[in-house]
Amino acid sequence: MAGEGARVGIGVDVHPFRPGRPLYLAGLLWPGETGLDGHSDGDVAAHAACDALLSAAGLGDLGEQFGTCDPRWAGASGAELLGHTTAVLREAGFSIGNVSIQVIGNRPRLAGRRSQAQQALSAALGGAVVTLSATTTDGLGLTGRGEGIAAIAVALITPVAGR
Ligand code: MG
Repeated sequence: MAGEGARVGIGVDVHPFRPGRPLYLAGLLWPGETGLDGHSDGDVAAHAACDALLSAAGLGDLGEQFGTCDPRWAGASGAELLGHTTAVLREAGFSIGNVSIQVIGNRPRLAGRRSQAQQALSAALGGAVVTLSATTTDGLGLTGRGEGIAAIAVALITPVAGR
């Protein structure tokens, strides 16, 4: 049963492929795969999770917290953004229950590294439970055409007792 005052939040992110960049996805480096473009490392799974957490807490979104023009976050890893988001939520009096992330795209195949990715994302969130799933869109849309990768995330958070 969710704790009293539990809140959910949702987050979505999409980045286009950019040949020549390394692929960072779900907290892992994927050797041999085409990377994603972006101001940071382009980790859509991490970014969607951050937005879901910030949304649940009513603390705005990634753009507001990290500013896409802010040089401090240029090239920031998904793990760094998740770590900072965790700190912002703690400061606001919330603890993270769990985060569920679904990656939408043709490549890479996540299943073989699912538990490794879940562990990496969980560690970045201070040990919160993270589950990762994946799907494709049967060739439809920007992910189906192989133009990029999308991710959607839901987070559950609870207010810390006594705050
Ligand atoms: Mg992003």
